[in-house]
Amino acid sequence: MKDDCIFCKILEGKIPSQMVYKDEKVTAFHDVHPLAPVHILIVPNQHIDDLNGVTSGDESSLGHMFTTAKLIAEKEGIQDSGYRVVVNTGAGAGQTVFHLHMHLLGGKQLSNKLC
Ligand code: AMP
Repeated sequence: MKDDCIFCKILEGKIPSQMVYKDEKVTAFHDVHPLAPVHILIVPNQHIDDLNGVTSGDESSLGHMFTTAKLIAEKEGIQDSGYRVVVNTGAGAGQTVFHLHMHLLGGKQLSNKLC
């Protein structure tokens, strides 16, 4: 855990969140400023700043983020209508919270423009 990290504080229960999933590797909660009807963040429980900070030792957590995204998409009923997962890396890509996270977006027709 990192003292000044807002997502670490959420994981520790020090800041409230609308949690939808938690296990030993990852936690998922609703984004506080949703950009789509379904906008959920999936984060590793262990603090990693961003994708640049991952090592081969993180591969099982990173893979688990994807299987969790699929599980939550099913729970949210968007597995067939379509959904997008996004990982912003660095301020130049729009990252604002420096605890690695995956956005799961869906529940509406998403733009085909990636950037
Ligand atoms: P990014 O721009 O990729 O770093 O995404 C960070 C996301 O975290 C944004 O979509 C914010 O709306 C979201 N966010 C920031 N603070 C919170 C919070 N306390 N609870 C839930 N989501 C948050």
